[in-house]
Amino acid sequence: MVADNLTQIKTTLPEGVTLVAVSKFHPAEAVREAYDAGQRVFGESREKELQEKYALLPHDIEWHFIGHLQTNKVKYIAPFVSVIQSVDSERLIDEIEKQAAKHNRVIDILLQVHIAQEESKWGFLPTELAELLSGVRFAERWPHVRPVGMMTMATQTDDEEQIRAEFRRFVALQRSLLEGPLAAQGITREQMHILSFGMSGDYQIAIQEGSNMVRIGTAIFGDRQY
Ligand SMILES: *Cc1c(COP(=O)(O)O)cnc(C)c1O
Repeated sequence: MVADNLTQIKTTLPEGVTLVAVSKFHPAEAVREAYDAGQRVFGESREKELQEKYALLPHDIEWHFIGHLQTNKVKYIAPFVSVIQSVDSERLIDEIEKQAAKHNRVIDILLQVHIAQEESKWGFLPTELAELLSGVRFAERWPHVRPVGMMTMATQTDDEEQIRAEFRRFVALQRSLLEGPLAAQGITREQMHILSFGMSGDYQIAIQEGSNMVRIGTAIFGDRQY
């Protein structure tokens, strides 16, 4: 079933759109099934669960961390994580820098942006992000952290127009950051190329609006176990 779902979804994704299979709350066997069907990029939202799966599964998997990450948990995933998509504070970047340096690696991150209406969603507000990027030189302050794009989530709603409007704001924000504070510190579109948005319920809208990375869980693995 997992393999069929994957195949089905992949046929709908245009070239250039990366599929992150969100395996949170599903057992390692489910990840293995997707792996055997050719999937190599997976998303997890809890550091403990990610560590456990990392230990059990092949090491050519590219693990993306997509949940809220507490600073004191960075050390557990820093040795092996491919991308931390959910970077939402300066303090967290400081900690990723520290841990990445310790392991002699450069960790790719996405800056998470709060676009949705719900209060519970994490992420930088657009204005906060503009301020942050205007105020620091990324490569000097955080040489072991490489920003490669941005991530967001739309409001959970059936209102397609609202979702579309939120995604558009997100894409427009990337453009203005690239033209403004990012350009000013020499960070190019080639480097900040990832726009991670779109989940099971809204990934088709996301792709229409310019997403090049979708994070899909339920539509691949079914309802989460707990
Ligand atoms: C759980 C989660 C997803 C996947 O959600 P589905 O609706 O199951 O596809 C995507 N992104 C983030 C940040 C998540 O926490």
